[in-house]
Amino acid sequence: MIKSVEVQYRGIFQKNLGKFIGGDIVQIATRMGQIAFSNGRYSDSPERNGVPCKYFAFVTPDLTEEELEAECGAALDIAGVNVSLVLDDSMVKGVEPWAWHGVRAINEKLVSKGCLIVVSRRSKDDLFKFIPKKEYDYRLALLEGDQSFAGMWVNKDDLTRERCLGAIAAVDPDIIAIDAVEEHIMETTKEKYRAEAAREAYEATLRNTSVVSAGEGAEWNHEIPELPKWQQLDGTVVIAAVKRGFKIGPKGQNRNDMFKRGTTKTERPVVRFDLCIKCTLCWMDCPDECFDPTDDGLYDITYEYCVGCHKCADVCPVPECIVMASELNFENDDSPWEHHKRDPEGYIKWAEEKKGTHRIVYNHVTGTGFERPKGTLVPPQDSGRRIVSREVRTS
Ligand code: SF4
Ligand code: SF4
Repeated sequence: MIKSVEVQYRGIFQKNLGKFIGGDIVQIATRMGQIAFSNGRYSDSPERNGVPCKYFAFVTPDLTEEELEAECGAALDIAGVNVSLVLDDSMVKGVEPWAWHGVRAINEKLVSKGCLIVVSRRSKDDLFKFIPKKEYDYRLALLEGDQSFAGMWVNKDDLTRERCLGAIAAVDPDIIAIDAVEEHIMETTKEKYRAEAAREAYEATLRNTSVVSAGEGAEWNHEIPELPKWQQLDGTVVIAAVKRGFKIGPKGQNRNDMFKRGTTKTERPVVRFDLCIKCTLCWMDCPDECFDPTDDGLYDITYEYCVGCHKCADVCPVPECIVMASELNFENDDSPWEHHKRDPEGYIKWAEEKKGTHRIVYNHVTGTGFERPKGTLVPPQDSGRRIVSREVRTS
């Protein structure tokens, strides 16, 4: 018998976190007398900011190391997983982990009775607006927390690693048991609070796991991608050039149909067109050319190509004109400018709702990374142009 775990994470930002969890599972399972190994697979190389990626861990009580590797190590894709851990809840909208070839469901690989663990502060109902239905029962476990950017550039040591191990132990003790998790943490770190964090997450996950019945969930509207067969490659791989062209208005720029990177974003920009001073900076600076000039001098956004990099929000000189908001607040990629033209007052109300209230914004952080910066609390906005903010300490 082989049991498998996939860790679904965002490239770069959560790379180390995903890798560490995969490695920890191997060490803990080995401590329990099992054979295990982990590996990682991803689409874009080198991994780019936010790209949906996966690490895997495979565990068996009855095969040899060679047998396990022969079964699981060579295949590009795997058939099914017992536990799928999602480190960034915005990925429940769908991921593109196997090359840019179409959006795949977050629970695609989960087997019957398996468990999807999502690190999130959202409710099950919120997440199931996006998670598609399956033909059989499985389980959902919610592990309360934010997207931890324990990635390649910065190691945000916020105990997400330990808490995820506790959650996996709760949903499938055959893979790793909580006692072995605690022993492993104590032996490798000598820090009791880390083992306690794992135990706490274990207990919480036992309480927060529910059955998802067959047929429960959203409709899946993305086409299932089919990779071309080698016989269809015409002797070589041909990548058609993007046609050059441009017209004023929504989706006016020609873009590569095969390279929509919208699933890489955790947040998207919301634009208050009524505040825009038409300075052109968002249009000029967006690295993915998501902005389309419109005939009234504004700039629409094509969200399917937006990677959520924050650049437009950073360069926009008008407070509250471009604000990043959680990707889970949006159910489609419709043109915001068309909404604004159709119903200017309604659009402002909609935009403020999406931006949310009592946000804390930070200036650019430079230096050692150990300083605790002050944030600015932005209170709820009215529907006019009045922008108020005050400085707050966040530490
Ligand atoms: S966040 Fe803004 S700048 Fe970055 S890709 Fe999206 S639209 Fe472009
Ligand atoms: S950066 Fe801001 S003010 Fe300038 S064009 Fe873009 S939305 Fe308008």
